[in-house]
Amino acid sequence: MTLRQLMATFPTDDDCRRFLVGRRWPDGVRCPRCGKTETVYTLQTRPWHWECPKKMCRKGKGTAYRFSRISGTVFENTKYPLKTWFEVLWQMLNSKKGVSALQIQRQIGSKSYQTAWYMCHRLRAAMQDPDFRQLMGIVEIDETFIGGKAKNRHGRGIGGGKKKGEGGTGVAGKIAVIGAISRKGNVVCQMIEKVDAPTLEGFVQEVVSNRVSLVATDEYVGYKNLNRAGFPHETVSHTQGEYVRGEVHTANLDSFWALLKRGIIGTYHNVSKKYLPLYLAEFQFRHNNRENPDIFGEAIAGC
Ligand SMILES: [Zn+2]
Repeated sequence: MTLRQLMATFPTDDDCRRFLVGRRWPDGVRCPRCGKTETVYTLQTRPWHWECPKKMCRKGKGTAYRFSRISGTVFENTKYPLKTWFEVLWQMLNSKKGVSALQIQRQIGSKSYQTAWYMCHRLRAAMQDPDFRQLMGIVEIDETFIGGKAKNRHGRGIGGGKKKGEGGTGVAGKIAVIGAISRKGNVVCQMIEKVDAPTLEGFVQEVVSNRVSLVATDEYVGYKNLNRAGFPHETVSHTQGEYVRGEVHTANLDSFWALLKRGIIGTYHNVSKKYLPLYLAEFQFRHNNRENPDIFGEAIAGC
């Protein structure tokens, strides 16, 4: 969908609302407090508002709990129309390396950089995946480091400098990120505090199905117990100059890291530890929905 098509699909805020309600509550409007649909009724006096009269949902005075289509969504408490939010979301989903708050500020014609920045972060938060499925098939695992000075950028791994620090604690001043990618599809990545074996193994146990056909990593010692943990684990020896041995390689994850780093260095310039998880969610969401024709609706459902 092009931006022009998006704007033609949602010419008014009411069109946006209808879409949002349909995606948010596909089985009928649900009370954000009790989660019920049957108790909810539509307010005749105010469009796009509902009430749940259940006792547990009422506040103090005993009047029914009233909510709107944006209650509890990322669009709550903003003065911007949904149309603007939809446009910003479209930009984010269609920019491979991400879109900066400055670009968004210009696009929506806002006076405030802060507002644009805030909108971007709210949308990134909506892209976090609360219930992902464990990865299957052939899965590549690798860790990388984000941040650091530009002069270190030419070591192993783009933007990464030296790959593994001494004692498995990473490289000073950089943030460690671990990722897993299935050859067929999805990627999962997370910020980690340590690049030691328990952390890496814990991540693999969590995101990789134990019925995979192959787990491919480099020779880093942190992965050495994966076989014992029941995973069909094979490694390539990067220090020996070996990057591919048949099916054993981490090329897909390398591409994902390269894109992530180009985005973080080129688009965002600098990303703090506090916000890195949101950027990871954004890149992960775009990757995992890259062939999803309904990527926009998918993102709206998470809002
Ligand atoms: Zn309720």
